[in-house]
Amino acid sequence: KLENATLKAELGNASWKLLHTMMAKFPDKPTEDDSAALKSYIHLFARLYPCGDCARHFQKILAKYPPQVTSRSSGAAWACHVHNVVNKRLKKPAFDCSKIGDFYDCGCAEDPVPSKG
Ligand code: FAD
Repeated sequence: KLENATLKAELGNASWKLLHTMMAKFPDKPTEDDSAALKSYIHLFARLYPCGDCARHFQKILAKYPPQVTSRSSGAAWACHVHNVVNKRLKKPAFDCSKIGDFYDCGCAEDPVPSKG
């Protein structure tokens, strides 16, 4: 099957949006269970990401830069950094991670993220 760059880019765009928005909503003071959940989510995301080439590459990035899951700010900074690693590889401009603060907004009210289903 031929590669469709438009669909691949749309998938990436949507995926980054979800990842960064999750980070923006992650607790400032997560429980151990919250941190474990985020860590496994990120590893499963990297494993199951539908673009196989992207997934393989992202798993290498995770090995070099392990997910930071001890607070919202460290998680958001980590996600911004690894996205910049991908940007660099794709020759896209780097995002200024000091501006990540209010950039991602879920549009939802101030309901807490449930820590367990
Ligand atoms: P995107 O990179 O999708 O970014 C969307 C928006 O996020 C930007 O417009 C900007 O507002 C903001 N943004 C940019 N950088 C950051 C940052 N560092 N932190 C926070 N916000 C930021 N494509 C490939 O062709 N090859 C690959 O190997 C590949 N690997 C990928 C791996 C993963 C895990 C993901 C999620 C995507 C991957 N992609 C890959 C897709 C690629 O990263 C882009 O999503 C796609 O090319 C669309 O780019 P875009 O210009 O819309 O911006």
